[in-house]
Amino acid sequence: MSGTVYLVGAGPGAPDLLTVRAVRLLGEADIVFHDALIHSQTLALAPQAQKVAVGKRCGKHSTVQHFINKRLADAARRYRVVVRLKGGDPTLFGRAQEEIAFLTEKGIATEVVPGVTAALGAAAELKVSLTQRGVARTVVFATPRVAPGEPPSNWVPAVLAADTAVLYMASRDAMFVTAELLSAGLPGETTVAIAHNVSLAASSYRFGMLKDLPRLAANLASGPALIVIGEVLRLAKWRRTAEQLGSWNDVLSKIAAGSSS
Ligand code: SAH
Repeated sequence: MSGTVYLVGAGPGAPDLLTVRAVRLLGEADIVFHDALIHSQTLALAPQAQKVAVGKRCGKHSTVQHFINKRLADAARRYRVVVRLKGGDPTLFGRAQEEIAFLTEKGIATEVVPGVTAALGAAAELKVSLTQRGVARTVVFATPRVAPGEPPSNWVPAVLAADTAVLYMASRDAMFVTAELLSAGLPGETTVAIAHNVSLAASSYRFGMLKDLPRLAANLASGPALIVIGEVLRLAKWRRTAEQLGSWNDVLSKIAAGSSS
């Protein structure tokens, strides 16, 4: 009798963005296989479990998927509760299907626990509704990234057809992303944002226009980033500009106060 492998969404990073179900399973886990970017406080929710890092981070320390599948199956034969902890939601850009298919074929039970995907974490921090009446009625989550041997991603028409688009695994290819979208006819003035380290202490947000995207995405410190595209961002962009002007006003009034004293 083998155990169950739970594919659990860890959310975008902050440990308090886990579901109650995820926290319960971590508490029961005998072993946790986790991605590279999982917060140490999240792993601390499974104090008794053996922790195995199986992260695939931009080619670095990459553990071949087949090897991960095999380790999950082996663990399920030895333990009752095996947690495969994945960043964000397991069913988005997380290769969950490959793990589910492999385990199912081996007769091992699986369950999926959803998580807050990075795009929704970014929307929350930006206080931007990804759908807005009269502005946006369609949202697309896409990536230009494909694995070697995989057919090319059809992300460009998807982004053009959607009112709001969030691009995963794209910020390092911002030059390519911009060129593709401009040549497909998306206006250079379209509002864009880079959401970096969403939900973490080191989070940062940059706003601009599509034509500025390569500059916005340049020199990002380490950590994951999303590209958000669409007019829903307009208000947040103005709010940010107003905050910056506000702080300039503070500086100017301090200088004025200083020079008059
Ligand atoms: N399953 C994950 C996505 C995995 S793909 C989810 O649902 O969020 C990895 C990509 O997700 C990164 O390249 C980045 O584009 C995005 N990402 C994950 N966590 C992020 C974070 N905290 N801030 C910004 N982007 C993040």
